[in-house]
Amino acid sequence: MDAPYAKLEQPEAGIARVLAHNPSALTYYGTQTYLLGTDEVAIVDPGPDLPEHVDALEQAIAGRPVVAIMCTHTHRDHSPASRPLAERTGAPIVGCAPLALETVGPRADASFDGDYAPDRILSDGETLEVESKPIVAVATPGHTSNHLCFAYDGALLTGDHVMGWSTTVVVPPDGDMASYMASLDRLRKREDRVYYPAHGPAVTNPQQYVRHLLGHRMQREKQILRLVGEKPRPIPDIVSNAYPGLDPRLVIAAGGSVLAHLLDLERRGLVEQQQDLWTTA
Ligand SMILES: [Zn+2]
Repeated sequence: MDAPYAKLEQPEAGIARVLAHNPSALTYYGTQTYLLGTDEVAIVDPGPDLPEHVDALEQAIAGRPVVAIMCTHTHRDHSPASRPLAERTGAPIVGCAPLALETVGPRADASFDGDYAPDRILSDGETLEVESKPIVAVATPGHTSNHLCFAYDGALLTGDHVMGWSTTVVVPPDGDMASYMASLDRLRKREDRVYYPAHGPAVTNPQQYVRHLLGHRMQREKQILRLVGEKPRPIPDIVSNAYPGLDPRLVIAAGGSVLAHLLDLERRGLVEQQQDLWTTA
């Protein structure tokens, strides 16, 4: 794919980014690592541990002091490069809490970086400064339970909570649809001027975009309720009806999102599960 891999881009003064070469059906062209600041920098979402990406980041840093290496969450396309980068720069790893799911069993999830080890965990509202400007942690659980966005100079670094190219995948057991919706609603009430997501282009109309995402999820929920209202259905059947023409590489992710909706509806007493069939309660 033709994309600006390993090149330093500068979306605005004080905010630069480098794209990692990890394109996939779930990451779009790859993970975008951001550099906040001018004379000193904070790194947001260092990305996958690919030597050429870490080299490109080191070049982009160009010897400037690194105040922190910050992670929005611990999926393997976001946090693993924090370790080689910390080794090369001496900067602390700061941001989301660690989260290790089991490697086998019902809570297994190979997409998590189990080796993530932060020097400092930021809770909601806690800050860190780069060049006397605050970077504020905004807790946004849902995509993962430990997800943070980072507010900086009127911009919001949204990680995977809001992406610029596709809707976010919310997969149980760690992903939670009710939390995700509440975190979207939280963003709706903020007044960020622009979003910089880890995947896809910047979002220059945040309010409108978040309202669109909330509406999309509510439509999806209605559709799932209608489908299980017609007859009891297993998840693959719901997926093939709700996502016609879906890219086969996304069937598992879509199944995860449908399950996330069903678990939320079950908690609200609207659906129930009998073996692998879901039906209205
Ligand atoms: Zn993620």
